Amino acid sequence: MAHVVLIEDDPGIRTAVLRTLAKHGHAAEAATNGLDGLQLLLTEEPDVVILDLGLPDVPGDRLLGMIRAVSQVPVIVATARDDEQMIVKLLDAGADDYLVKPFQPAQLEARMRAVLRRSAAAAEELAEPA
Ligand code: CA
Repeated sequence: MAHVVLIEDDPGIRTAVLRTLAKHGHAAEAATNGLDGLQLLLTEEPDVVILDLGLPDVPGDRLLGMIRAVSQVPVIVATARDDEQMIVKLLDAGADDYLVKPFQPAQLEARMRAVLRRSAAAAEELAEPA
C-alpha cells in the first residue's frame, strides 16, 4: 500500500484515479489546485505524488519546481500533451515518470509500482553503512 497525493483539477479524472487507487489498496488524498497540492504534500508526506500539468493556479512544470525545492518525493506527471519537448523538460525538472492522458488505470498502477520500487531501493542504499 502506498500513500498518494493526487493534484488534479478535473473532477472526472480525479474521481477515476482516486477510485483506481482505492481499489488497489492505496491511501490517497487529492487537491484541486497547485498550491493546495503543495500544502497537502507538506502535511501528508506521501510516498508518491501524481501531478496534473494543467492546473488552474500554477502551471504544473512550475509547481514541480516548487515541489523539488522542498521535497524529494517521487512525482509522476500526468500531461494531456504528448509533447516530446515538454516531457524532456519535466524529466529534467525532477519528474520521476509521466503519463499521457487519457491513460489506463493499469498503466498508472504500473508506473507507481516502478517509482516506488526505485525510491525503496534508493532509501535502502542510503541506510546501508558506508
Ligand atoms: Ca487539468
